[in-house]
Amino acid sequence: MNHPIGQIIILGAGIGGLSSAYELLKKGRQVIIIEKDGEAGGLMRAIKHGEYNVDLGHKQFYSRIPRVHSFYMEILGDKLITYKNRIGIYYNNRIIERERKYKGLFRGMSVSLISLGIIDIVAQKIKYIWRRKRTIEDVANSKNGRLFSLIFSQGFDEKLKCRPWSSVPRNKRTETSSFTKYFSLLGFAKEDNNGKNLQENWVHPLKGSGGLIEALRDKIINMGGEIRFNTKVLKLVRQGDRIKSIEIDTDGKISSLETPTIISSIKLDIIAKLLSLKYRIGDEEWSFNRGVIIIYLFFNEPSKFPHTSLYVPDPKQKIGRITNYDVYDCQMVPKGKSCLAFEIFCKKENILLELDDEELMTIVKEEFGESHLIDLKKLESYQVYKLPSCDPATNWEDYKIEKTRNQMYSDLKTIENLYNVSRTGIDKIIYSSIKAAESIITNEKDDFFKETSPVELEPWSM
Ligand SMILES: Cc1cc2nc3c(=O)[nH]c(=O)nc-3n(C[C@H](O)[C@H](O)[C@H](O)COP(=O)(O)OP(=O)(O)OC[C@H]3O[C@@H](n4cnc5c(N)ncnc54)[C@H](O)[C@@H]3O)c2cc1C
Repeated sequence: MNHPIGQIIILGAGIGGLSSAYELLKKGRQVIIIEKDGEAGGLMRAIKHGEYNVDLGHKQFYSRIPRVHSFYMEILGDKLITYKNRIGIYYNNRIIERERKYKGLFRGMSVSLISLGIIDIVAQKIKYIWRRKRTIEDVANSKNGRLFSLIFSQGFDEKLKCRPWSSVPRNKRTETSSFTKYFSLLGFAKEDNNGKNLQENWVHPLKGSGGLIEALRDKIINMGGEIRFNTKVLKLVRQGDRIKSIEIDTDGKISSLETPTIISSIKLDIIAKLLSLKYRIGDEEWSFNRGVIIIYLFFNEPSKFPHTSLYVPDPKQKIGRITNYDVYDCQMVPKGKSCLAFEIFCKKENILLELDDEELMTIVKEEFGESHLIDLKKLESYQVYKLPSCDPATNWEDYKIEKTRNQMYSDLKTIENLYNVSRTGIDKIIYSSIKAAESIITNEKDDFFKETSPVELEPWSM
């Protein structure tokens, strides 16, 4: 099956694919989106459960890029709300504030914890007079002590990234950014170090991230765009520096599409396979190996704490983060009820991925059943999602640290008729997708690369 020249094919109906499609349709271009699932949204899809309509995990909509903020406004209008993104740290049955503005310098820590922390800082400072600092763990401990490092940054970061700090070599060259990033949480350093992530005003779609997806999807369809659901890309056939055709499977029927221009929002490891590009790490073929298990608990009473999310740094606990959808001032949760999402970050080989829903629920009960955060008597139901290899915790620095990721990005750049808009961070994905559409219209592909390099932080914050 062929289709008219000039029609642009977009791979994936996640936020990236949909944003590109919308921008192209606005400029009068025709688009077809190919999506393997039966619904739009990808990692931003809505989790619907009765009257609940919540995000997939904890979703923070960054507003670092003004063009992206106007995009949100254009799509959502008054269905875009602002809220207080109050993040807490759950440690030793207590909530410690991540930001000092809530409970001052000591953030709700007990006197005994503060005293222990101070003694520990002194002990670590003495220890590192003689000891060499080889890893970021050494650097953190020598500055803030083991206990405060664990509570305020290391514990959660290690879970999120699925890697111990003791395995990350210290890099003096990048230490300024890593250092401020890792220690900004302590509050002994500046709270918003580079001013990018700890933004003051947070926005969220009124009906959760799925609200943005549904609004975009409807606009695309109304503007004449086509979304082919349940259609999987099997192969991208190359001829020299171009993709010649796209082999697709729609409900078992294999066919082929040809087009002069393709936008891909599919994750890099998948697109590599579709292009038969081989990357190896040791003996294994390269693919993203970090994923997440999300256990949603639905309660018939309001939530018991005012935080949008809690980080859980204690290594003895498997849960890494808890998101509280009830406090967003959104319509994600019905009135008088609440929903908490317990996230376990894990590598794809983690045996937790093999547990059934009941066994995963038992972990939540064991770790939090007795805490003041939940009352199991008020639990209405629960639901579990496993997302192995979804690569949930990336940021721009991963392109620096992970050479294969960066190599893959560079290799895709050489394919003339492909615009790869996969990036890390919702705002950067949307910006890349808008830029890809603009560059296709103006035929200036270099502009796209110049403004959307995933490795650079700076050009994005204009
Ligand atoms: C738990 C969790 C929390 C997160 N929190 C945040 C956050 O707070 N802030 C933030 O900025 N980011 C966050 N992220 C990341 C963010 O959700 C993603 O980066 C973003 O949604 C990716 O959008 P995308 O369109 O690039 O890709 P995707 O959403 O992955 O969309 C790609 C689409 O392509 C489709 N597809 C894949 N393969 C094929 C194929 N062969 N054929 C056809 N279709 C295919 C998929 O089904 C999917 O719909 C989080 C992610 C997770 C999982």
